[in-house]
Amino acid sequence: MNRQNISLLGSTGSIGRQTLEVAQLLGLKVCALAANTGGQLLEAQARNFRPSVVAVYNENAARDMKTRLGDTAIRVVSGMDGLIEAVVCPDAGTVVTAVVGTVGLRPTLAAIEAGKRIALANKETLVCAGEQVMRAAAAHGAQILPVDSEHSAIFQCLQAHGPASGGGAPFKRILLTASGGPFRGRTAAELQQVTRREALSHPNWAMGPKITVDSATLMNKGLEFIEAMHLYGARPEQIKVLIHPQSIVHSMVEFTDNTVVAQLSVPDMRLPIQYALTYPDRLPSLTPELDLVQIGALTFEEPDLETFRCLKLALETAEIRGTACAVMNAANEAAVSLFLEDKITFPGIYDAVRAALDSIKNIPDATVEDILAADREARRLVMDRG
Ligand code: MG
Repeated sequence: MNRQNISLLGSTGSIGRQTLEVAQLLGLKVCALAANTGGQLLEAQARNFRPSVVAVYNENAARDMKTRLGDTAIRVVSGMDGLIEAVVCPDAGTVVTAVVGTVGLRPTLAAIEAGKRIALANKETLVCAGEQVMRAAAAHGAQILPVDSEHSAIFQCLQAHGPASGGGAPFKRILLTASGGPFRGRTAAELQQVTRREALSHPNWAMGPKITVDSATLMNKGLEFIEAMHLYGARPEQIKVLIHPQSIVHSMVEFTDNTVVAQLSVPDMRLPIQYALTYPDRLPSLTPELDLVQIGALTFEEPDLETFRCLKLALETAEIRGTACAVMNAANEAAVSLFLEDKITFPGIYDAVRAALDSIKNIPDATVEDILAADREARRLVMDRG
């Protein structure tokens, strides 16, 4: 297994496309590509990178891809089995999980069991099954490298410390930054009428639609809070969310002596993607230099938990062990898709998630099966509102 060879899950999404830009720059071999539906873009990626396997989750789209790639030696596989085949591809040392949502859980666990290094961009996997995933990674000696920009920043800040001589968490607090999204400064009443187009225009980052809506509700920061708890073994009271509208400081770590180490860069996902792929080395990247004089000021403020109720809800849910985080995550995914189809309002996203959490019973010592069942129940409940 060569660590320089990657399997890429979710190649046609925003993170997937940027991963391929980085792979091209670094000259990495792409052993497998996987996507939900595929089509022309996936075909072009396959012809360009020549993987041995292309997995398409949707069965009809997989048949179409077989025809498209009929003149090549590339094997086209489908469904969940196909995604798993793509991640366990023998030549690949690193699996980049860039799919959106809980669909990433089983393939991530399969990659861990196969001893792959995981470049994790699928935060929902850790939100819904963080304990199970981290336990499996420890048992199989699989390294998980964060691709989410905040978690990459935290990981980089922690390098400043080195191993703690006394054991235990080397840090006192994680300062998790958030841009505040397009609706920063608005009141709850003003958010009643916002449109899909407004929710999809993020001030600093160009991302896929699901995460962009999550950034507008601040649910994204709630999901990242839970992701950070699992990745760094942090208790909820050790993580502080800070609004930082410029998106230059990607997060910080405060140590015992009150030193705060921060990671700064232009907001560009290709940087955390590359660091996850080259760690522990740093190589020249596609990200432009940071011009602090031109930026002028970096500011920080408290999040408004009364207006951004999804963040408050996520911070409360983070304290509950069991299936609650999976319910919240799945209900949010379903509610965001209803909002994107204009079937519910922007505040309706919170209402749907709240209702799912109130009506589905938490299972404290949950198995992966319990989590997947809770996920399905939450989705069904929310979809009935559409
Ligand atoms: Mg992020």
